[in-house]
Amino acid sequence: MRIAVFSTKKWVRESFDAKAGEFASALTYFDAKLGPDTAVLAREHDAVCAFVNDDVGTEVIDKLADEGVKIVAMRCAGFNNVDVKRATERGIAVVRVPAYSPYAVAEHALGLILTLNRRFHRSYARVRDGNFVLDGLLGFDLHGKTIGVIGTGRIGRVFVDLVSGFGCRVLAHDPYPNEAWATEKGVTYATLEQLYAESDIINLHCPLTHGTYHIINTYAVRSMKKGVMIINTSRGPLIDTDAVIDGLKKGIVGYLGLDVYEEEGDLFFEDFSDQVIQDDTFVRLQTFPNVLITAHQAFFTREAIENIAETTFQNLREVRDSGTSQNAVPE
Ligand code: NAD
Repeated sequence: MRIAVFSTKKWVRESFDAKAGEFASALTYFDAKLGPDTAVLAREHDAVCAFVNDDVGTEVIDKLADEGVKIVAMRCAGFNNVDVKRATERGIAVVRVPAYSPYAVAEHALGLILTLNRRFHRSYARVRDGNFVLDGLLGFDLHGKTIGVIGTGRIGRVFVDLVSGFGCRVLAHDPYPNEAWATEKGVTYATLEQLYAESDIINLHCPLTHGTYHIINTYAVRSMKKGVMIINTSRGPLIDTDAVIDGLKKGIVGYLGLDVYEEEGDLFFEDFSDQVIQDDTFVRLQTFPNVLITAHQAFFTREAIENIAETTFQNLREVRDSGTSQNAVPE
């Protein structure tokens, strides 16, 4: 089996080489993102390995199938960028890494909350500049605040464990509520309306689907508490960025922490430090003192990338040996 690995960065190559086993000589690393113009690179490969910002839509699936590719191995949990139905029609198996470290993402979300609240990023810069003034750094106690968690899957549940240590009240929303877990943890399931109306901090831990696209829109923002903090470590399109910018300008959104962004595919994981960024919406976001953006790094811990590499090779092994995998994405 030959495997074309797209969107390769140094850390991808290192973590994959360390875990490749019998696949060591079967890997071809490409820096390029997978998309309609690069799918041809998969020629003479049986599998492609892709990541969160690769385009594995209908056109790409067709091109991969024409090149004889039989497996799309996503090295991430989300598969919103894959046309799974088309892949099934064209005889391509799609596998993913459903869980590699819920701790990595939940801990990063908590990091964004603490940093936005206590302004560590601003105090770090001030103190290094010899400025020891506290004005503008006033925070609030997390203790006693209400945190709204949208999506109580693997990451959402770990996040609840982390914030319960602060003495927060947790409201949760999930179309598949886990009542036994909620009772044990003292979590209350609520409607989105109640969660928006009562939460001081809102955390998004649901997947991107047709139902969750722009779940945070103008209507949602208007139903939130004034000064609310919104944290998104899940997928950019969960938030209508223009609606949140409007909320920031009106003071409804008091803090915004993003690890993902609607149009991140054109920016994240690349170095544009000596270029003019053309995305005006992203640049506008950067102008707010109460917005903190990280570039899709929540998953990026040693443990997580080791698990991603291990599971990806295990998925490929399973499909090679039995035609399917326990981590196959259902159509
Ligand atoms: P999971 O599948 O374990 O849990 C997702 C939960 O969301 C489920 O309980 C599901 O019922 C719920 N859900 C579905 N639709 C919903 C809706 N309309 N409203 C509320 N809840 C809804 O997934 P997970 O492992 O907890 O991951 C959550 C998301 O985190 C992933 O889908 C992925 O997009 C994102 N993620 C981001 C990073 C990163 O580096 N930033 C890394 C890994 C995962």
